[in-house]
Amino acid sequence: MVKNYKEKEKEIFQSEEVKTENKKLNLIYSLTIIAVMIAMIAYSSVIFAGKHEVEDIVKGRGVNNTGRLSDYFPDLENTPGDTDVYYMEGKEPGGTLLVMGGVHPNEPAGMLAAVLFIENVIVVRGRAIVIPQSNASAFTHQDPGQGAPNYFSIQTEWGERQFRYGSRISNPIHQYPDPDAYQHYPSGQIVSGSEVRNLNRVFPGRPDGMLTEKVAFGITSLVRDEEVDFVIDCHEARPMNPIVNCFIAPEKAMYIAATASMTLGFDENIPIRIEPSPPNLRGLSHREFSDHTDAIAIIMETPNPAMDNLRGPTDVELIIEGKDVFYQKAAEQGGLIYVPYPEDIGMPLDRRVGRHTSGMIHLISAYDELNPDQAIQISNLPKYSEIIENGLGDYLLKP
Ligand SMILES: [Zn+2]
Repeated sequence: MVKNYKEKEKEIFQSEEVKTENKKLNLIYSLTIIAVMIAMIAYSSVIFAGKHEVEDIVKGRGVNNTGRLSDYFPDLENTPGDTDVYYMEGKEPGGTLLVMGGVHPNEPAGMLAAVLFIENVIVVRGRAIVIPQSNASAFTHQDPGQGAPNYFSIQTEWGERQFRYGSRISNPIHQYPDPDAYQHYPSGQIVSGSEVRNLNRVFPGRPDGMLTEKVAFGITSLVRDEEVDFVIDCHEARPMNPIVNCFIAPEKAMYIAATASMTLGFDENIPIRIEPSPPNLRGLSHREFSDHTDAIAIIMETPNPAMDNLRGPTDVELIIEGKDVFYQKAAEQGGLIYVPYPEDIGMPLDRRVGRHTSGMIHLISAYDELNPDQAIQISNLPKYSEIIENGLGDYLLKP
């Protein structure tokens, strides 16, 4: 009896030892797996958090001063929505121009047109304010599933200038969660929830809204506080979208858009359409500035082949050279894309930026014709033919 009891006790004791050993091993395995997961999450968080190398924008000789958007709305200070503002004063008094780029950071020609303005222009009369990266948060990530490169580079005589290729909407780690549906303030228009991160759907913005609405409120405050007369907002669109290669103008800006469209055609042989801004499509910069401030505002659109669903691989070459065999096929079919696609040229970035710079030159002239007492005169902005001849890199300064 005694022996049996002792043996049994030994068995039980041994199995407890084994159990303890197994528990230890399980704990080691679990901790290892958790450590690997934490490392993977940390690594992908760094990428997801948009640890992007921020590009330099060089103050050209025409820049007198720089500031931040938070100067107009202090709530933006130390947030991912704050962004740089450049001030360029003319010697003679006149009107105030605001140039906006990077409202949509996946539309590189718009941002680059604003950069070329900052790095080249001398304001002769009046003054210019430039916001090259209007939605700073959207420059820190990319649209999921689109396969776009993080950066693209432009060759210059002294080396490469690298720029970020961003997203259409603000980074979800800066503004989360999206509502199921977004109700625009103050119109009450309802659109899909993610549009609350689209800067060009949330103007005029609101001070107690989500981050992108606060950015919009900051820019609208700048337009009011600086008594901006004329706003040019530089964008790109999908080549299969009929609203491309055009000026989009609300009622107040239609004469200026029409005049500039004619002079661009006559003087520079650049055909550009005019699209009336629908009064019921709310939240867009030109519509809301025109309705909520004293400024006149126009959006310009060029075609970006890296944005449309027809494209093949989305690489740096597509962004810069703008050539894709599928657009070629679409152009041959006729009626599928709304821009010319010459096989040997494609839709390159230099021509798209050139359309913006020449567009600005003609829009400002048309504005001056209507407002001789508050005229804005600029010099040294390279026009379309100059950019094609000399290359974009010729107009980018060395940081
Ligand atoms: Zn856009």
